[in-house]
Amino acid sequence: MLIDGHGRKVDYLRISVTERCNFRCQYCMPEKPFSWVPKENILSFEDLFKFVKASIDEGITKVRLTGGEPLLREDLDHFIKMIYDYNPDIDLALTTNGFLLKNVALRLKEAGLKRINVSLDSLIPDVAAKIAQKDVLKDVLDGIMEAKKVGLKVKLNSVPMKDINDNEILNLLEFANQEGFAIRFIEFMENSHASSSLKGLTSKDIQDIIAQKYNFEKIPRDTSSPAQYFVTENGYEFGIIEPHLDDFCASCNRIRLTAEGFLIPCLYFEDAMSIRDLVRSGDIDGAIEALKKVLANKPEKNKWGTNDNTDSSRAFYETGG
Ligand code: SAM
Ligand code: SF4
Repeated sequence: MLIDGHGRKVDYLRISVTERCNFRCQYCMPEKPFSWVPKENILSFEDLFKFVKASIDEGITKVRLTGGEPLLREDLDHFIKMIYDYNPDIDLALTTNGFLLKNVALRLKEAGLKRINVSLDSLIPDVAAKIAQKDVLKDVLDGIMEAKKVGLKVKLNSVPMKDINDNEILNLLEFANQEGFAIRFIEFMENSHASSSLKGLTSKDIQDIIAQKYNFEKIPRDTSSPAQYFVTENGYEFGIIEPHLDDFCASCNRIRLTAEGFLIPCLYFEDAMSIRDLVRSGDIDGAIEALKKVLANKPEKNKWGTNDNTDSSRAFYETGG
């Protein structure tokens, strides 16, 4: 079992398989980075798999593939199948912007993917295009519907921003409810890569908007999820991810690995340790030792909710969110 320096059990590995992306979301990567990580620095799926196997042996039970945009990486379904074949009980999930999903949803499902989270910030084509800086909505919706059709469990992620899509919270909630999807609203996390003009909504703002139309109650917190869930009077459950709240990190159960092989203990801070050379040279015991060291020093909490919150300089497209 993996335990961090604050006594938290860590059983969730998030792997960002690429930092590259086909969107330029204003809250994440509004401009193409000055340079991409050189291809030769990116770990192959074979190398990543060596680490995944060992971390499953150490107690990881949930693996999520993310990015950048993970569907830009060729043969993602092969990587999924490797993990599935090693241990079919692993909770194997993917986070995607959905743009390329339609044509690959079935392959992903057949490879062993169980769940998929798709980012959907707007149901209005022009607003979606303003956020992603590209005309994306139709392809994203086609991808979401195909994922549903092939039997993947779909969850939607939405980042409400003032004067951009805050008037769509109820529409997004109702769309998700109608289609049988879960939805989570994510508080915008300030970071130095995002467009500087953006203002996020707090969890309270989001709840106030939903309360204009629905009565709802808090569901006691499931510590394995970063979201606080609520249930409406008609029985629909929605979540809000509240990184600005003081107790948000108390049940953090995750560790992140980047495409370049950096282990990242917290989304807010710059700390990272490379396991690339260890993995490439086959020293998997060494990589697991490094993992344990990183976990021993995992920060207790982020700084989004504190008075000395300066924007984090960690890029979401690198860490995978
Ligand atoms: N490209 C994929 C996608 O957009 O779903 C996966 C990577 S993306 C970095 C993962 C998640 O991080 C998305 O749900 C996105 O909305 C969220 N995200 C990115 N930047 C964020 C920010 N500044 N604040 C809150 N959530 C953010
Ligand atoms: Fe790309 Fe996802 Fe970041 Fe948008 S949030 S720029 S889709 S990585």
